[in-house]
Amino acid sequence: MFFFNENSWMAGAIILIFRYFLIAGTAYFIFYIWKKKKLSHLKIQQKFPEGKQLRNEILFSFLTLLIYSGTSGIVLYWYKKGITKIYHDVNDYGFFYLLGSVLFMIVLHDTYFYWTHKLLHSSKWLFKFHKIHHQSHNPTPWAAFAFHPAEALISLGIIPLIIFIIPTHPLALVMFLSFMTIYNVLIHLGYEIISKKKSNLSIWKWQNTSKNHDLHHEIGGGFNYGLYFSFWDRMMGSYKENQN
Ligand SMILES: [Zn+2]
Ligand SMILES: [Zn+2]
Repeated sequence: MFFFNENSWMAGAIILIFRYFLIAGTAYFIFYIWKKKKLSHLKIQQKFPEGKQLRNEILFSFLTLLIYSGTSGIVLYWYKKGITKIYHDVNDYGFFYLLGSVLFMIVLHDTYFYWTHKLLHSSKWLFKFHKIHHQSHNPTPWAAFAFHPAEALISLGIIPLIIFIIPTHPLALVMFLSFMTIYNVLIHLGYEIISKKKSNLSIWKWQNTSKNHDLHHEIGGGFNYGLYFSFWDRMMGSYKENQN
């Protein structure tokens, strides 16, 4: 199987980096170059980041993606030992299970992200490892994976949590990781493209928006620790919609 070939880490790195450049690059091109003027009313912070910030965001995201692909051998080792719940025949659990497992991964990841993110803000020593991500006070799509290597490793903890807890099809994992990348780029977009005020659908209430996460970057923490949802922030009293 392609995903579990020992020699595939290089191919994995190329796929991860290509996916990041494709998604973050497309978002950057549309919002920061092509439609910059036309969409300026949606920009959350009016100022635009300097070249140095962009270079840092790209450099550290690149490093994170190399770490992600470089550690894929551990998953291979666990898989070969037969201790994971990875399965290959979709019919074993059915297609609806596969889709449901992706939703479960997203909710589990949101919980994992909220608590590890909050932990990284809980002391000066731990914040040292999260400081790189917070160098961007005015984030762009390139900041999605701009982590210190230690934070990159912490973020990887979601993978064993998934493959040891629930039956996981590789396709479900790819769908989840692609969604995670797109959503990560969205919350670092710097533009609010889904307005809660315009939408009467209460489902948006539970969404962690670009504006929520932008505020987390602008002020430097203290609230809005979630990734996809605002459940945990609302429950733990760390939700904030505006500066005031
Ligand atoms: Zn961020
Ligand atoms: Zn943070």
